[in-house]
Amino acid sequence: MLDFIKRLLIAGIMGVFITLLFLGGKTNAQMLEPDTAAEEWIWPTDGVVTDTFGTRNGSHYGIDIAAGLGTPVYSVDSGIVTKSYYSSSYGHVVFVKHHNNLETVYAHLNKRYVEVGHRVKKGESVGEMGNTGRSSGVHLHFEVHESEWTVNKKNALDPVEVLGDIELGESVQAFKQTAERSDALHASAKINTYDESEQNQYIVQKGDTLSYIAQKTNSTVQTLMKINSLTTDVIRPNQVLVIHSQ
Ligand SMILES: [Zn+2]
Repeated sequence: MLDFIKRLLIAGIMGVFITLLFLGGKTNAQMLEPDTAAEEWIWPTDGVVTDTFGTRNGSHYGIDIAAGLGTPVYSVDSGIVTKSYYSSSYGHVVFVKHHNNLETVYAHLNKRYVEVGHRVKKGESVGEMGNTGRSSGVHLHFEVHESEWTVNKKNALDPVEVLGDIELGESVQAFKQTAERSDALHASAKINTYDESEQNQYIVQKGDTLSYIAQKTNSTVQTLMKINSLTTDVIRPNQVLVIHSQ
């Protein structure tokens, strides 16, 4: 009899443990609000916002960003590629699942650079902007889904909830946040004119190298790397560099 009670007790304790584990997991998932991701995510490409979430009678479940053919498209955060294929509607498309339980979709790509299972870093290029699938004009169609993408897109979130507010026709830059942050770190009082003055900015063109830009702007590679907080001399088209005008 005592043995029976003992077993019952053990079963009961185990039950409590399992319940706690389950609840614990659930709480973790709920803690990951889109807001917390906002500080970490970058915009998926450089370009102009040409359509927003919820348009076309609510049937547009993403945001459109237009730029030139072949403009790099970046993963907004680190994650694992869950799909990479060609669809008649999305065209060349890449899906990335992130640690915060959100899944992002990069559609109408000209080329895909990653395959399923690939671990992407934040800012890693997953492909280049294109006009494949059901698309008119070169642009990136970008979606964010809570948990996962589904056929009826019921988990879709407005990407601006995560990336911050943006107006139609406004320009976005993938690495702007990083630049602003490093500016804030380095500059404060001394060089706060950099953001305001367009003369101090240079937009990287296709084929540019840092040494070419240095020569063109009477600067040096070292100076450009330092004021832009670059860790390597690798630059990307449409990247905005701060240039010393003096
Ligand atoms: Zn779209």
